[in-house]
Amino acid sequence: MAVVESKAITTCKLLIDGKWTEVKTNEFTKVTNPSTGEIIAQTPMCGAKEVDLAVQSAERAFPAWAETPIVERTRVMFKFKALLEKNYDDIAKLVSREHGKTIAEAKASVFRGMEVVEFALGIPSLIMGECMENIATNVDCETMRHPLGVCVGITPFNFPAMVPLWMYPIALTCGNTFVLKPSEKVPLTAMFIAELLLEAGLPAGVFNIVHGGKESVDALLTHPKVKAISFVGSTPIAKYIYEVGTAHGKRVQSAGGAKNHIIIMPDADMDQTVQALQASAFGCAGERCMAGSLAVPVGSAADEVMERLVESSKKMKVGPTHEGGSYDMGPLVTKDHLTKVKSIIEKGAAEGADLVLDGRKIEVKEAPNGFYLGPTIFDKVKPGTTLVKEEIFGPVLSVVRVNSVDEAIELGNACPFGNGAVIFTNSGHAAREFKHRFNAGMIGINVGVPAPMAWFPFTGWNNSFYGDLHIQGRESIQFYTQQKMTMTRWFGASKGSTFKDPIWKGKNQ
Ligand code: NAD
Repeated sequence: MAVVESKAITTCKLLIDGKWTEVKTNEFTKVTNPSTGEIIAQTPMCGAKEVDLAVQSAERAFPAWAETPIVERTRVMFKFKALLEKNYDDIAKLVSREHGKTIAEAKASVFRGMEVVEFALGIPSLIMGECMENIATNVDCETMRHPLGVCVGITPFNFPAMVPLWMYPIALTCGNTFVLKPSEKVPLTAMFIAELLLEAGLPAGVFNIVHGGKESVDALLTHPKVKAISFVGSTPIAKYIYEVGTAHGKRVQSAGGAKNHIIIMPDADMDQTVQALQASAFGCAGERCMAGSLAVPVGSAADEVMERLVESSKKMKVGPTHEGGSYDMGPLVTKDHLTKVKSIIEKGAAEGADLVLDGRKIEVKEAPNGFYLGPTIFDKVKPGTTLVKEEIFGPVLSVVRVNSVDEAIELGNACPFGNGAVIFTNSGHAAREFKHRFNAGMIGINVGVPAPMAWFPFTGWNNSFYGDLHIQGRESIQFYTQQKMTMTRWFGASKGSTFKDPIWKGKNQ
């Protein structure tokens, strides 16, 4: 059992050596159902001692797992995929219960995670090295990819299933062992899915879970047996993880926060654009690193977009999601996060932007203790203000009106983040200019949320990513492996060529 019932609430356990292990601590973070405000579990805030147990478990399991033929490692993933499918509805419900996504959003996110498992199933082909015969006379050369050892995943609250699944299916299939430190705010989904890994036949110790916050993360970053760290979270912590991890000799990929611009040209298909803009800004209550949080209508596009967007956003139904229902948007993850987002709204209004839709006025009578905020829209936001500079991570859309695509690109390129950027247009020229010149790693052309699928890397730029090799796609296989080059000569194997290179003639022959 992944959890222990203590008094009224459930305490999360660690997964070490394939067994769920209780932690002795007095420090906990409460896990709430944000739809109701009810406490549903508590996460033990672990330290160096528990981290060492988890890393040692992974270290012990590594030699046998690394030597397990890759097709056998992949077969475990096939079984895991089947179990994810079988438990799809329950996983989505759990995501919704601890995070607040609507069931449809939760299902979509789990599906995206399952696609990473599908990608990992192809690793026997994708991991193959290169070889060349007779690179010199009787000399052959080849490269092979080897696993690294103990890899670590540290994940954020906003995708309890998907973001951990970005990491370990690939790391494990490549032959590494893994320690996951899920967000202390949403640990339950990660634990439920870990049970499926065990059920799929993953040997004990190959996958481990440790809980906590800064203290456990610091212990992971500095542990001598940890070889690589995958992190997803906010920018200040992403930068910290990269700096401390690399200073301790780890390979690090560290994805941070975002401020994704959505440019709307006057020639865009307005029906499609308004629908996509609304979904991008308010889907998952804006708690997405690829959310379109800053709309930039160009010239005459502004009035039409604003009028239609405000009208349609007003109609969005906000309410409790954990039992299904037909709500368009759920709550924010915690009361603290709700308070933080509300304080940014206050600041935005104080800085002079037009608050044309105020989500703070929302009332959810059926769940009065939930952490709700309705869709919020600021128009005529000035460049350089808080609403333009800061990631808000809630259902708050800021709108900066500009007069040309050049001005829109210039505004975007002044942004310190660089995750995603989108243009809605029917002009090939405007789209090409935007695609070529915009300083962000993931570009959408008439696509509201250009989050790549598992087969492509999640290519954040600037302060949205620290490291060299991104999460997902072939880059992730490079991240979780190291290459070995072997050069071979067998004396007398063949007579070799009689060709003499004219440059060398008379020198060493
Ligand atoms: P967060 O940075 O607060 O936490 C992320 C992880 O870091 C958690 O596991 C947490 O326990 C740990 N952590 C928190 N404070 C720490 C500290 N001081 N030292 C060491 N570790 C610490 O992020 P969050 O609030 O959980 O998630 C939201 C953020 O994640 C947003 O900024 C969002 O844009 C970002 N995100 C980015 C991507 C991406 O691919 N770029 C994807 C999803 C989320």
